[in-house]
Amino acid sequence: MEQVFPLSPIAIYLHNPFCLRPCSYCSFYRVAYHQKQQAEYLQLLIDELRLWKHKIGREIKAKSVYFGGGTPALLTAEGISNILQELQIEAEAELTLEINPIQITPAFIEELQTTPINRISLGLQSFDDEMLSVLGRRHRAADIPAKMKLLRKAGYKNISLDLLYGLPAQTLEMLKRDVEELLKLKPQHISTYLLTLEEDSPMLAEIESGKIPPLADDELAADMYELVCKLLRKARYTHYEISNFARPGYESKHNLSYWRSEPYLAIGTSASGWLPPWRYDNPASIRKHQNNIRKQVLMPGKKLRRGKAEEEDYLMMGLRLTKGINRDDFKRRFGRDVVDGKHEVMAKLLFFELIELDDNWLRLRENAMFISNVVIGELL
Ligand code: SF4
Repeated sequence: MEQVFPLSPIAIYLHNPFCLRPCSYCSFYRVAYHQKQQAEYLQLLIDELRLWKHKIGREIKAKSVYFGGGTPALLTAEGISNILQELQIEAEAELTLEINPIQITPAFIEELQTTPINRISLGLQSFDDEMLSVLGRRHRAADIPAKMKLLRKAGYKNISLDLLYGLPAQTLEMLKRDVEELLKLKPQHISTYLLTLEEDSPMLAEIESGKIPPLADDELAADMYELVCKLLRKARYTHYEISNFARPGYESKHNLSYWRSEPYLAIGTSASGWLPPWRYDNPASIRKHQNNIRKQVLMPGKKLRRGKAEEEDYLMMGLRLTKGINRDDFKRRFGRDVVDGKHEVMAKLLFFELIELDDNWLRLRENAMFISNVVIGELL
């Protein structure tokens, strides 16, 4: 165990699967909020961290911590502080908490200020109340500026906002309005996602029964992506990852660890981690996860990702960054140049102007970002 756990500070993801109310588009593993179960789960997270420390025989140094969910702010400020106390946190560490806008009240923020959390990620999703209702989100667009003001007044200077597009019956004009509203809030970071639905999501059933209109088709979705990129670039946000934009210096340090294939520890039910050469997924069941921790089982069902598999993961993640992958870094990790054995496919992708290749970097071109899965698939 010790040899897979890095000595240097690491990115840590902590998952809280509890939600107050299910969103209609969601097919993540989630659990209806119950105060007692939530308190027990908090203890489970702490036990899991303690078990890791016991197994590696030392403290865990954190360079970033991300509380995701579910609804991680349900862990309470005291719970979050208790978890963070289990870690040795670097002075410059990025500590992110996802918050559902409905949770932001003066009392909540007062509590939050007692924690070291220094980055907030808000799931706004849309500025159209009708869309918010369709999505099953409880907040209303008009409440958001006041909530942002509360956060700013409390000293939170690093705020990321999430926006969904491709919503039922959404037009380009409606999306443009959403982006304009979002820009008025002057966030440091913006994540935008095309709404896609899994087989088991309640919204898909509603679309299939004709209760709500369908999502954007591929052509409209591509136009929407182009529009979002154009508007955010015009507003001087750096497009640094396929779906992410930031003011200079506010790129998500935590997520950069994922995209750079750096190790990260995942704690909590259904969380996925990467401690090279192992990838692991904690079970999507609190009971099973609890049993594992009780039996001192970490990294259940871990999968070895070495050689070609590790290379594929590296390319899939690294090419999401607009900067692309560094050829020297690739060489250091895999002992060969990224172009070796790929001359034919690289030539084809260069001809179609889907990639750029120079002495130092391989990257996707802007026009390949929306179809990144296809282009990256060619390179694997
Ligand atoms: S989208 Fe997030 S908040 Fe909504 S049900 Fe899914 S996990 Fe919970």
